[in-house]
Amino acid sequence: MRSTATELDPKVRTFALTGVFALTEPDHGSDIARGLATSVRRVGNEWVINGAKRWIGGADTADVLAVFARDEANGQVKAFLVPREAAGVRLTKIYGKTALRMMQNADIVLDGVRVDESARLGSINSFRDVAELLRRMRSDVAWIACGVQAGAYEAALRYTGRRVQFGRPVAGFQLVQEKLARMLANLTASLGIAVRLTQLQDRGIYRDEDSALAKMATSLHMRETVALAHEVVGGNGITLETDVARFHADAEAVYSYEGTHEINALVVGRSVTGLSAFTR
Ligand SMILES: Cc1cc2nc3c(=O)[nH]c(=O)nc-3n(C[C@H](O)[C@H](O)[C@H](O)COP(=O)(O)OP(=O)(O)OC[C@H]3O[C@@H](n4cnc5c(N)ncnc54)[C@H](O)[C@@H]3O)c2cc1C
Repeated sequence: MRSTATELDPKVRTFALTGVFALTEPDHGSDIARGLATSVRRVGNEWVINGAKRWIGGADTADVLAVFARDEANGQVKAFLVPREAAGVRLTKIYGKTALRMMQNADIVLDGVRVDESARLGSINSFRDVAELLRRMRSDVAWIACGVQAGAYEAALRYTGRRVQFGRPVAGFQLVQEKLARMLANLTASLGIAVRLTQLQDRGIYRDEDSALAKMATSLHMRETVALAHEVVGGNGITLETDVARFHADAEAVYSYEGTHEINALVVGRSVTGLSAFTR
């Protein structure tokens, strides 16, 4: 790793260099801000990283892992682009996932991994800088929650239009139409929230609590929408024959990552009350 983070930027932009976001740890998910335990120590012009990461999406195919570690010297969080095949990096795929199965996630052990100072991302100097990244990522997840709902709604509409019971498509029954209408209302509300957040983002005036609220609200809508899709598709909703089962399962992962419902609610709650409910 010889080039600086700034020099790498065009390669990142063109996907000539792929990377993943390695923040979560086996013992620290929601409390990562204060709990992050992976450590880093400067030795001459190098940094030595020790620790473990969990759930890292795409790690087994990425060129580099963006590893967040706490500087032993001052306790601040820093980030390093660690080559996936660097000495001391050990990846283990997480098997048996029931959601987002197309995404390979990994556990990572970092055992005395040495990287050059040029591998350090100079703009990450504390967890406050990491929070800035989470703010952007949460707004992306709000759009993903819209996409999951659109997919589930369209699959449900398709299926109910061709599934005949009592001599007519089930889409023609009032109770089924009420569910389709609620799905569409959830999707429309979610799109409204996501579009508004993106407008604020474009103007550079969105805050942590804005993206936390968007992630939280669109994910809540998503959970109800996929459950309704499941209902109107009946027994076939648990097979892969319709897409509904996949959206239903994937929604649970989207609901949990980039801050769970509770954590995003606490970020919003802290903003509106001025009181932090995070402990420790
Ligand atoms: C499919 C998937 C992909 C992921 N990809 C990545 C990735 O690429 N990179 C990465 O770094 N991470 C990734 N993650 C990790 C993800 O961000 C964490 O799973 C998430 O932050 C939650 O942490 P946890 O799973 O350890 O849950 P925990 O923190 O153990 O939480 C368990 C439960 O306790 C609740 N809880 C915790 N604290 C509080 C509190 N103070 N008040 C109320 N309730 C609380 C939570 O809301 C949750 O309901 C991924 C996760 C999944 C499932």
